[in-house]
Amino acid sequence: MAKALAPDVSTWPQDNPQLVGSRCGSCSAVTWPRQPRCPRCSGPDMSEELLPRRGTLVAWTTQGFVPKLPYAGGETAKTFKPFGIGLVQLDDVVRVEVRLTTADPDQLKIGMDLELTFVPLYVDEDGEEVLVAAFQPA
Ligand SMILES: [Zn+2]
Repeated sequence: MAKALAPDVSTWPQDNPQLVGSRCGSCSAVTWPRQPRCPRCSGPDMSEELLPRRGTLVAWTTQGFVPKLPYAGGETAKTFKPFGIGLVQLDDVVRVEVRLTTADPDQLKIGMDLELTFVPLYVDEDGEEVLVAAFQPA
């Protein structure tokens, strides 16, 4: 079995899982993950919004060292492998900051098409694989 690191931010394990964000009923701002109040107009009228599965790469960087706590990956400085972090524009809906499946500069180009997938992050104490949302070249 596998499970999601953050079950409330996506529809995984459904087929073709989508990230779950929120949309403001007053000004139409979209957030991911969900927020109880709108970051743009502070309105409380937020409803669930399923986000596009595909997007384009706006900017990216490499996480080259073990992130500070709280971080669930469980690696040590010895076992940690650098990963990419991208700013991804999902259609014309919202920009999200997400993990990328690669940190290889030869595979990452600004403006490239990406699609949502889920990758193993670590195996927990019950032997279950824990998955995290990531974007891969489409
Ligand atoms: Zn708003």
